[in-house]
Amino acid sequence: MPVYNRRYLIPFRATLLPQIFTDVLVVGGGVAGLRAALEAGQGETDVIVCAKGTLEQSSTFWAQGGIAAVVDGDDSVEDHVRDTVVAGAGLCDEGVVRRVVEGGREAVAELAAWGMPFDRKTDGDEAGADANAALDGVALGREGGHSHFRVLHSDGDATGKSLAYTLGQRVVESPNIRFFTECFVLDLITTDSEAPRVLGAVTHHPKHGLQVIWASATVLAAGGAGQVYRESTNPAVATGDGVAMAWRAGAALQDLAFVQFHPTTLYIAGASRSLITEAVRGEGAHLIDRDGYRFMPDYDDRAELAPRDVVARSILNQMAKTGHTHVYLDVSPIGTERFVERFPGIAATLQQFEIDPGGSIPVHPSAHYMIGGVRVDEHGRASLPGLWACGEGACSGLHGANRLASNSLLEGLVLGKAVGENVRETVQRNGQPQRVKVVSDIRLSDRSELDLADVRSSLRSVMWRHVGIGRDGDRLKEVEEMFGFWSRYTLDKIFDERLGWEVQNLLTVGTLITRAAQWRGESRGTHTRTDRPEASDEYRVHDVWRRGAASPETVTVDAPVPV
Ligand SMILES: Cc1cc2nc3c(=O)[nH]c(=O)nc-3n(C[C@H](O)[C@H](O)[C@H](O)COP(=O)(O)OP(=O)(O)OC[C@H]3O[C@@H](n4cnc5c(N)ncnc54)[C@H](O)[C@@H]3O)c2cc1C
Repeated sequence: MPVYNRRYLIPFRATLLPQIFTDVLVVGGGVAGLRAALEAGQGETDVIVCAKGTLEQSSTFWAQGGIAAVVDGDDSVEDHVRDTVVAGAGLCDEGVVRRVVEGGREAVAELAAWGMPFDRKTDGDEAGADANAALDGVALGREGGHSHFRVLHSDGDATGKSLAYTLGQRVVESPNIRFFTECFVLDLITTDSEAPRVLGAVTHHPKHGLQVIWASATVLAAGGAGQVYRESTNPAVATGDGVAMAWRAGAALQDLAFVQFHPTTLYIAGASRSLITEAVRGEGAHLIDRDGYRFMPDYDDRAELAPRDVVARSILNQMAKTGHTHVYLDVSPIGTERFVERFPGIAATLQQFEIDPGGSIPVHPSAHYMIGGVRVDEHGRASLPGLWACGEGACSGLHGANRLASNSLLEGLVLGKAVGENVRETVQRNGQPQRVKVVSDIRLSDRSELDLADVRSSLRSVMWRHVGIGRDGDRLKEVEEMFGFWSRYTLDKIFDERLGWEVQNLLTVGTLITRAAQWRGESRGTHTRTDRPEASDEYRVHDVWRRGAASPETVTVDAPVPV
């Protein structure tokens, strides 16, 4: 068996480690995990949420633009469904889209009732006129691919922060939920059989060391893997741990080739790639090149409000045409006063670099959102019994081949809640967590020391250059082989701290994305193959990957997920 098929990251004997028991273990403290925990923790069910960082360290906390939901009388579920499906380029599971979109209004009304301070209409805003008093007069933004103003936001461009604090506060106040921060989940524990069952996880806490948390139900909500790319909008925690551990445990993964690249992140050498939310374009900003030429109308009738993949590719094209490292977002049509009022967080970032919030902002695309992930059914059940998944690390079929802006917080809320409900019912039926003898016996690697930082940065550079916005089949094959080679001496090591485990997870996820991108011999949604520029009906399927299989199983769009 190749070393990169190792079942666990570290050696351990489960019964000899400190033991914790719970009904439900939720891995991840972002929108999906917190919402699932709140639902699961109703009644008598005990829930533990583990987050490897703090509440603030998640993509959720960083979200700017807002939450898409149909709350305005002029808008409709049909329109939101259509916009989502059009962006998804033939791969959305429409049943899931409808379910999520239909759940939007209730999800945001619930948040408002829980105290989430959604922005209210001021002069110049579109406002929702909703029968629900909690939402009446709420300000609505518009983003690329949306046919209506339907994006609810909070504190201008700090929606994620308000959302995380609103959900986090409720979690802290819930008597049945324990929230373990700084608790790194290394691996899911499974029964050692042909049909493994998930029994919980092995975790590491800087103070308490290794522990086993036995759970009747385990929910993976560990977010995406943006850190696998050199240019990324994602926080440092987004290292694909959930997807990698699901893979090691044997869960089916789906549609991994699809990674969304955000067209506009601040491009200043040495600065982190701060997102300049799509809502800025929604407010009227234009993309211009180094010569001041507004180029988007040349590429798409929807100009700056075309879906993200179209805008990101157009920017790269224009950069190639003009021989420049970036383009500019001309925000002068918005006006400085309005810009600072509507986007206070971005204005503050610009100020740090002495960029005029009424002028031109240097921007460049970056990896932003992982569309593929752990394959789940309508209840969020993964292919292994005892395991559920939700949020960015799951693949529900909502986003198809491309995510519509502001649909992911919505997904985390609606499907997170659905997972929580299903988990609670299942736990009530199935009872106590099972504790079995699980032994991970790994011999120590006799290979030389490894420069982990170098593996990490080389991986991220290669992913950006060859598995990024434009991909070539032959090059993908070479990259996959190269990652196979790197895996031989990186994945056979045993680390005792987070950086090592994260690099191992990044390499696993990078390899899986590359393999799926190589398999998908077409261009569709976020996946652009320069050697296969057209979409092909042959590939209008979900690709489902399992450990041990050299090629994916293909599944018709909208087919029910067997679990
Ligand atoms: C800059 C930025 C702006 C965005 N803006 C928007 C927006 O306006 N609207 C929108 O809809 N979407 C937006 N998105 C996308 C959206 O924020 C994410 O898709 C969504 O928040 C993901 O939620 P999640 O709960 O799945 O994961 P996250 O919010 O990323 O949470 C993941 C959690 O898992 C934990 N975790 C990870 N690995 C481990 C491990 N090994 N052990 C324990 N815990 C672990 C992390 O600590 C974290 O608590 C944005 C994303 C970014 C990066």
